[in-house]
Amino acid sequence: MPTFRGQALRDLAHRRPMHQTPPSGKISDYYGENVFSQHTMREYLTDEAYKSVMNAVVHGTPIDRSIADQVASSMKDWSISRGATHYTHWFQPLTGSTAEKHDSFIQPTGDGRAIEKFDGSLLVQQEPDASSFPNGGIRNTFEARGYTIWDPTSPAFVIGNTLCIPTIFISYTGHSLDYKMPLIKALTAVDSAATAVCQYFDKDVKKVVATLGWEQEYFLIDRALYNARPDIATTGRALFGHTPAKGQQLDDHYFGSIPERAMAFMKDYETECHKLGIPVTTRHNEVAPNQFELAPIYEECNLANDHNLLLMDLLDKVAKKHEFRVLLHEKPFEGLNGSGKHNNWSLSTNTGVNLLQPGKNPKSNLRFLTFFVNTIMAIHKNADILRAAIAGAGNDHRLGANEAPPAIISVFIGSQLSNLLDQLEKNIKAGKLTPDDKTAIKLEIGRIPEVLRDNTDRNRTSPFAFTGNKFEFRAVGSSANCGHSMIALNTIMAEQLQEFKKAVDTRIKGGDKKDDAILKELQKMIKESKAIRFEGNGYGDEWLKEAKKRGLSNLVDTPRALTVWKDKKVQKLFNDMKVLTPEEVEARMEVDLENYVMRRQIEARVTADLAQNHIIPTAINYQSTIVDNVKGLKEIMSAADFKKASSTQMKLINEISEHLTGVKEKIDELRKERSKVDAIENVEKQAAMYADVLFPIMNDIRNHSDRLEMLVDDEIWPMPKLREILFNR
Ligand code: ADP
Ligand code: MG
Repeated sequence: MPTFRGQALRDLAHRRPMHQTPPSGKISDYYGENVFSQHTMREYLTDEAYKSVMNAVVHGTPIDRSIADQVASSMKDWSISRGATHYTHWFQPLTGSTAEKHDSFIQPTGDGRAIEKFDGSLLVQQEPDASSFPNGGIRNTFEARGYTIWDPTSPAFVIGNTLCIPTIFISYTGHSLDYKMPLIKALTAVDSAATAVCQYFDKDVKKVVATLGWEQEYFLIDRALYNARPDIATTGRALFGHTPAKGQQLDDHYFGSIPERAMAFMKDYETECHKLGIPVTTRHNEVAPNQFELAPIYEECNLANDHNLLLMDLLDKVAKKHEFRVLLHEKPFEGLNGSGKHNNWSLSTNTGVNLLQPGKNPKSNLRFLTFFVNTIMAIHKNADILRAAIAGAGNDHRLGANEAPPAIISVFIGSQLSNLLDQLEKNIKAGKLTPDDKTAIKLEIGRIPEVLRDNTDRNRTSPFAFTGNKFEFRAVGSSANCGHSMIALNTIMAEQLQEFKKAVDTRIKGGDKKDDAILKELQKMIKESKAIRFEGNGYGDEWLKEAKKRGLSNLVDTPRALTVWKDKKVQKLFNDMKVLTPEEVEARMEVDLENYVMRRQIEARVTADLAQNHIIPTAINYQSTIVDNVKGLKEIMSAADFKKASSTQMKLINEISEHLTGVKEKIDELRKERSKVDAIENVEKQAAMYADVLFPIMNDIRNHSDRLEMLVDDEIWPMPKLREILFNR
């Protein structure tokens, strides 16, 4: 009987690149054509409606009902012209992916006909059945209602036949059940805190937006091979499989030429992205075989995040069309690089200034230093919050593994800027600022642009690195909703900037000149935040020791990392910044813990099933063949000849038996332990048990199974091997 694997490999042999005919004309001709963009709105909306929407976008002014009716009606007309028959509120529940429920525009007229209708009330608010989305105990079962509410700051778009309207998702009681609402609140908080600080330097600054440029890594594997691997198909990662002999040792995949089949896929998703106004520009091979990366030009944070979520969805859809599957899991293949999603982040003013970009004169450089040092201070004070915001079952395999940022949060700024901060710290003596100090500092500050020009040292091992005009948060997982990390980062930054403003104002009231007050405060922060700065190799063992000495946390897994949300100080911070109430913070912790448990639970079940139903029978079959062979030899040979001729077979039989016993014992142990752990009511304890007790047993099962893969005849092995999955495109 042909194995599933055999069939998949035959399918693979027939694969050809599926070139799609690109739309005619230049990219700029069709860019954004499926978006109800500002440009389109100007064409479709009355002046009054257009102004009202723009006011909502820029100032958060509510849109009134009659205007909402007009906007809805225009949105409908425009989307029908783009082929839409249905509409949906598009939202971001705490599952991590996006959700949608499609409704048709059709409304019967009572005379056997129908018209297309879409009014303001349908645009502004909907009531999806919220009971099947995670809520962490916020929504009582008797009050299962939830609302999705239009977010006019992110434009509507058409995918296929559906008009998609970005929305926030809240419970009947007003608690947020998604990533979007707290993200918008965090962005509002950082806007007002940063705008206030900008007033020290430029009174024209009225608004500050956070910018986000994500870089998405992923694996691309053949669809037939994916389907023949129940572990990859159900959990997103290979629970079994010997690491291929040729992995990434030769570094020959990184930036190598992109294989033709993958290229056809990339061109196709790029076209789809461009039509949706997602400014993707970069594509290249990543370090591991079949691993790739793409990146857009950065955008305002909320929009950039919506675009990333849309992109993840698109990748999946387009990949299927090309007989591929995309793996967004953080660590699909043991022993090979995992996938991350670098979050490049900065703050930008309405006057067009990037606040993390050093300027041309001492004044703008002092502004740069202010935001630069405040960011470092924010990370120093709240490293555990950032760590918790990137925690998840998938990322646990990546953080701390050899290629990835370790679970310890630290900040890299490069040797030149480190020296500069050290100088600044020294030049101010105990809060006093002599004229000589000032001259020295001015000189140092004046040198910043020049320092940065030749700042070529780039540290790939740092989880949070300054890269010239932005910080790059690299520890974010490839499957994550960036909302999670961006809520955390922008909230702690808002709090830090508020503290800074208060401290500087106090110094000014005490008689300090503004610049002196700022400098003294910067010096204090440079001193206090020293422990978080690390320029060395983040992957080395010495760093673990050094970090411990410095008192930095090393929260090695998700159950440990998430405990920070119980900290009353952390809850107060999010509450003070008006981002999340303590109740919402705790609910999120619960959701993340449940998610961790569910993922490990599924992995444990799939591990036991595959080992029991695929691997054990295959190994026994092969062993029987050898046993038959030995019996045959014995029949036809003399005792002396037989002993010699059967020695290899006997060794194999014994080795197979050893691993068969190992697998079976561990499967039984896993089942026994799992029934105990699954009965634990407290999800925190349960999650810790999955990490500490069940996960190691799963690894033991894998180790025995992978040994069996090496022993058993290749011909009868049921599941595609990793070398086949990773080296055929
Ligand atoms: P790399 O990190 O690979 O060297 P780049 O430095 O060119 O690449 O930028 C990586 C990402 O950083 C891109 O998505 C880019 O849009 C984004 N980026 C650049 N400037 C900013 C900024 N001011 N704010 C946020 N993201 C930015
Ligand atoms: Mg980068």
